[in-house]
Parts: sequence; C-alpha cells; structure tokens
Amino acid sequence: MKHPKHERTLVLIKPDAVQRSLIGEIIKRYEQVGLKLVAMKFLVPTEDHIETHYTLDPAWRKVTGEKTIKGYVDKGLEPPEKDPHKVTEALLTKLKKYMTSGPIIAMVWQGAHAVAIVRKITGSTEPLMSDVGTIRGDFVLDSYQMTDSDGRSIRNLVHASGSVKEAEQEIPHWFSAKELIEYRLVQEQILYDVNLDGILE
Ligand code: ADP
Ligand code: MG
Repeated sequence: MKHPKHERTLVLIKPDAVQRSLIGEIIKRYEQVGLKLVAMKFLVPTEDHIETHYTLDPAWRKVTGEKTIKGYVDKGLEPPEKDPHKVTEALLTKLKKYMTSGPIIAMVWQGAHAVAIVRKITGSTEPLMSDVGTIRGDFVLDSYQMTDSDGRSIRNLVHASGSVKEAEQEIPHWFSAKELIEYRLVQEQILYDVNLDGILE
C-alpha cells in the first residue's frame, strides 16, 4: 500500500474568492498545514468543463439534494422541495453560471490524508453552518435560504474533492499527468521522517 503522504486532492478557488482578493489567504491555509502544492493554473473554465466536473460521480445529484434538504430540517425549517433530485435539477445550470463568471484557480495538493485535511480546513458546503476557523466559516456568509429565494448557487469560495475516489476522478479532469510536478519539499522530512535524525550536527 502507498504511504498516506502520497494522497492528492483537487482544490478550485472559485470566482467569488478571486473577486474577494482571498487567493493568498486560501493558499496560505493549505500550505501552512503541511500540504505540498503539486499543480496550479489560472483560467476561466467553460460550462461543459464544469458540468462534467460535477457529474463525474453519478450519485452527486442525489447526495447533494439530500444534503440540502437536511440543511433545512436541521434548522427546523421546511425544505422548499422534498425530492433530492428536484433540488439539484436546476442546480447545475446555476453552478455553471457561477463557476464560469470569472477566472478561477485550479490546484492539486498532496500530503497525508490530503482529502480529509483539505475538507476540514475548507468547511461545510453551506457557509452559514461552516465552523469558525474554516475558510467557508471565516470569509463568507451564504445560506440555502438565501440562494433558494434568489435562484442562484451557494457562493462558498472553494471547491475541494469530497472523497479519495472523487479526487482521483477530478484531478485528471483538470490536469494532464505531466502537469503534476513530482518533487521533494524540505519540510516533508520533519512531517514524515521516522527518526528525525538529520537535524543535529
Ligand atoms: P461541496 O462543494 O461542499 O462538495 P456539493 O458537491 O454538494 O458541495 O455541491 C457543489 C456546489 O454546489 C457547492 O459547493 C455549492 O457552491 C453549490 N450548491 C450545493 N448545494 C446547493 C444548493 N442547494 N443551492 C445552491 N447551491 C448549492
Ligand atoms: Mg462536492
């Protein structure tokens, strides 16, 4: 089995984060935890590219619909729609509009438990419920209630792969194999070395 330090995840800095001048702040958070940046590009994605990205996992529509309904129920609110598929029916169109509205940054981060660590730092989908200390909890205030009444996508600054399987599908969708740079980062010796025997002279 491969060492956990080889795990990779895809992160997108969404158009709202670029417009809010949060690029540096967001990169800093993934960098300071000890993850290694292995690929990065700045681009305006096409609608097709975004649609494929969100439908790589055939279960995404159902899971996202269920999560939205739970978001209402957990707050003691009546969800506007009870069928998870209906919830996500119009979502893709809104997401494509949001994600192609301006430039974004696509990145691949590598390190032990990269997927879970990045999701933890990013926070939960709905910024209203994201923990303080997370990117979505600290820098934005959107909610399902607001986006449903305004008919738009949740603006939550960042996309991060939801599972290792999702990351493995998403990374090749955004980067070719030769765009992923394999290199050693000096700090990896402190993070992963078993004996810490290279420090004292
Ligand atoms: P995450 O980005 O946390 O993995 P999902 O994969 O469930 O979340 O959804 C993808 C994106 O679609 C979210 O980040 C958010 O921008 C948007 N979104 C999800 N659910 C809704 C919803 N019910 N209403 C509006 N936008 C939503
Ligand atoms: Mg997701």
